[in-house]
Amino acid sequence: MRLSQLGELGLLAELERRGLIVGVEHDAAQLRDGVVVTQDALVEGVHFRLDWIGWRDLGWRAAAVNLSDLAASAAEPEALMVSLALPGATEAGDVVELYEGMAETGVPVVGGDTTEAPLVAISVTAIGRAERVPGRAGARPGDELVVTGALGAAGAAFRGSGYVRPPLRLREGRQLGAVAHAMLDLSDGLAVDVAHIARRSGVRCVVELEHVPLAPGASVGDLAFGEDYELLASVPKGVVHGYTCTTIGRVEAGEGVQLLLHGEPYELAGWQHFQR
Ligand SMILES: [Mg+2]
Repeated sequence: MRLSQLGELGLLAELERRGLIVGVEHDAAQLRDGVVVTQDALVEGVHFRLDWIGWRDLGWRAAAVNLSDLAASAAEPEALMVSLALPGATEAGDVVELYEGMAETGVPVVGGDTTEAPLVAISVTAIGRAERVPGRAGARPGDELVVTGALGAAGAAFRGSGYVRPPLRLREGRQLGAVAHAMLDLSDGLAVDVAHIARRSGVRCVVELEHVPLAPGASVGDLAFGEDYELLASVPKGVVHGYTCTTIGRVEAGEGVQLLLHGEPYELAGWQHFQR
């Protein structure tokens, strides 16, 4: 079967079924002694276009999307490793800007690899340490679903051919991580990401879209776009009172995701690699 039929999630499920990968229910791999490692690749033409994003913003993004997975793991970041594939015609000054963008996150780059390639591809590995990783499988009926900030900014910016930098929610991640039954970062679109928690936890997640804080210029439809990199957590009712987060829904017994807008069912698409 081709990847275009199987989809990204189908591929991962098949590899997991064969025992060739383990523990992919988490945003990051958990190693001994609380070490947490995550890796994400950005490929020109798939994740970005150089006429839409500058090199400095690209550097920030490459680091930030990985640091977001550490935030979702309630981890403190320690270092980044960067593998970079570039055409030989690339200006050296652009590469310096790329690294300056990564440096803006405040997490040091301690190694990696550079290679020639027909297009630009950046793979960043982020390494951190966590006392407790909530994961995706622990949500329980009675929990509330909370998000750490406004959503829809990336979708709204994309509609206008603009770009917004993903936020860093590392502090919020560690705070929520101490109490959350499940947590992830919102990268694939709200409906898809909520479904990850529902499926892994064996629960039903109900989201009341009118409670989702929207970024300036964003509408509910932009929530399908994803790439907001805010954190979504399933927490025991009431425990996050006073935290900088917003309750957008609840966890019930059952399965699947129900999206409601003012009490009426609402459809939101989502993103899967390979499938179109
Ligand atoms: Mg993630």
